[in-house]
Amino acid sequence: MIPPIASKFVAGESPATALDHARSLNERNVNAILNLLGEHYDDRGPADEDAEAYVRLLEDIERSNVSACVSVKPSQVGLDVGEHVYRENMERIVDASGDTFVWMDMEDHETTDATLDTYERLAHEHDGGVGVCVQANLKRTREDLERLADVPGKVRLVKGAYDEPEEIAYKDKERVNEAYRDGLAFMFEEFDGGIAVGSHDPAMIEYATELHEEHGTDFEIQMLMGVREDAQYELAEEYEVWQYVPYGDKWLSYFYRRVMERKENLLFAARAVLSG
Ligand code: FAD
Repeated sequence: MIPPIASKFVAGESPATALDHARSLNERNVNAILNLLGEHYDDRGPADEDAEAYVRLLEDIERSNVSACVSVKPSQVGLDVGEHVYRENMERIVDASGDTFVWMDMEDHETTDATLDTYERLAHEHDGGVGVCVQANLKRTREDLERLADVPGKVRLVKGAYDEPEEIAYKDKERVNEAYRDGLAFMFEEFDGGIAVGSHDPAMIEYATELHEEHGTDFEIQMLMGVREDAQYELAEEYEVWQYVPYGDKWLSYFYRRVMERKENLLFAARAVLSG
């Protein structure tokens, strides 16, 4: 069972608890991006099992009538085992997705090419029913955005969660913010919709809304469960908002990561538990 302190960031261990959480978000006009926790499998067995779990989750979503999609980590469905395993499992998931959208998360820089190649192929085959994440801290991302502009899918721009070498990544926070703004400006100018702003940063969200007013391009805002939830509900009154909702029994390392990236998260979770 997930202790109350972690349950601010993780929706539970089963798909049913994740769907319950999605339902309660929908009541507040927020949509859910469901992510089964798991990554870096070295063997094909667990990668295939998680792919199968996503197929079942997609069936549950179709049946449940909730506004939800899924987001899959490449190394969770076999990228560390081999690119062909990742491709086969992603194909299986997307083939089973029906009308439900499928996102691919982005992991460290060694996975970028394989992730984008698979995304591009599936996006063309499935007429845009898939999306991919790109990271503003990587110097290559501007070129990747140019490549992705004409692909029929969605792109989530994030700042980047991995500690990358300085030859290929911006390390300075301000430089990453600048690259994020540049990325947003390019997307709003060149993309035909399909823009996802994956950030909690009020300055980036405000900039995105300004670009939306200037160019009229459609976009959505994505934030994590447990982070700035009041802002999510408020933004949802005016914009399309999606909350990234992790669930599953591998919640401990995810909770640890949230706390390590921002120590206030621990205080915040503790306060939320104490205040009921
Ligand atoms: P930061 O630069 O961390 O913070 C900027 C400002 O935002 C802060 O000053 C504060 O005002 C506000 N803020 C940030 N966090 C909090 C908080 N906990 N509480 C209150 N205010 C806060 N990374 C990947 O590498 N690959 C992925 O696939 C990926 N997917 C993601 C999906 C979603 C939906 C989101 C939201 C993030 C994802 N990330 C991913 C993580 C991302 O790369 C960043 O590490 C993370 O979002 C932190 O950057 P930020 O833009 O939110 O804000």
